Amino acid sequence: MVARCKVKRGFYLYHSEDKLVSRVAKSVISLKGFRKLWLAGGGSSQSLIGVQDDLLNGENISFRGPECWRAEEFRKWSNKNPQGFGVSLYERDKISNAWLKKTGRYNWKESHFIRALQMRCNMLPTLELDNRFGLRGAIPLCRACGKGPETGSHVLGGCSETKLNRMARHNKLCSMLAYEGKRMKWEVFCERRITKKDGSWAVPDLIFVREDSLLVVDVTIRSDGVMAWLEVAKAEKEDKYRKILGPLQLEFPLVKDLSVHGFVMGTRGKWLKSNFLVLEKLGIGKTSRIRFAKLCSCITTLKSVDVFQAFNKRVRGKPLLTASQ
Ligand SMILES: [Zn+2]
Repeated sequence: MVARCKVKRGFYLYHSEDKLVSRVAKSVISLKGFRKLWLAGGGSSQSLIGVQDDLLNGENISFRGPECWRAEEFRKWSNKNPQGFGVSLYERDKISNAWLKKTGRYNWKESHFIRALQMRCNMLPTLELDNRFGLRGAIPLCRACGKGPETGSHVLGGCSETKLNRMARHNKLCSMLAYEGKRMKWEVFCERRITKKDGSWAVPDLIFVREDSLLVVDVTIRSDGVMAWLEVAKAEKEDKYRKILGPLQLEFPLVKDLSVHGFVMGTRGKWLKSNFLVLEKLGIGKTSRIRFAKLCSCITTLKSVDVFQAFNKRVRGKPLLTASQ
């Protein structure tokens, strides 16, 4: 146990945000010493390679302890269907898991926390969960809108009956980004209508202008079952809004550096590393970037809980729909 504590402490000292602490840790704790502690703490020499890699190259990741029940249980859960779907995206993700610590849940009620836990491990009381052993054949239709199977992804990301709550979640993230932009002395335009060359128009969520730089940012929150879904969402947004860079150049002739960014979050609070580029371009410092990323993840999670609660209120006591209804 003592060796485990020491190896864990050493790992976090290596990754300290305080550069001096990190430098001292690297000079005091040799890789040989780290290896010795790892083996004494119950870790195997095979797993040491991955941990040493984390130690030297990892960024914002948590310590991977010696083989233990926790990792084994996580692996088992990840393989369950539907409960484990997409859960592996969150493994050792310090930013998207920030709300799990009490300090990351400012102003949350206990009921929010319980719902968020259910949401994270796909245990929300939906017909998808109810039908997890396939007793009803296909997943029954959503009791609120009747337009698709009642899955967690549908309720949190596509149900027409929760649209207002989903818009509130989206708008909250936009207002947080706009606030950060103003704080960094950018001129911020929210939902400005831009007419394209062919006469059609587009309304990006945010346009930031400062000196000779201009950033177009569009926020979207998508189902986070698979990382590729989030990456596709980002590419879609960027392709869509790249077409307004020409008209924006005419509108802001002094601007020389124009860029377009999709700012994508997962419905269960997944933070994409590529979002950091937007914060970096806004000129936000590293520590503040990480703090903001954690806040985005917490707020998205909390707002998704609101989306689910709205759905739950509508369907409480409602009978199952059949395909013909
Ligand atoms: Zn629905």
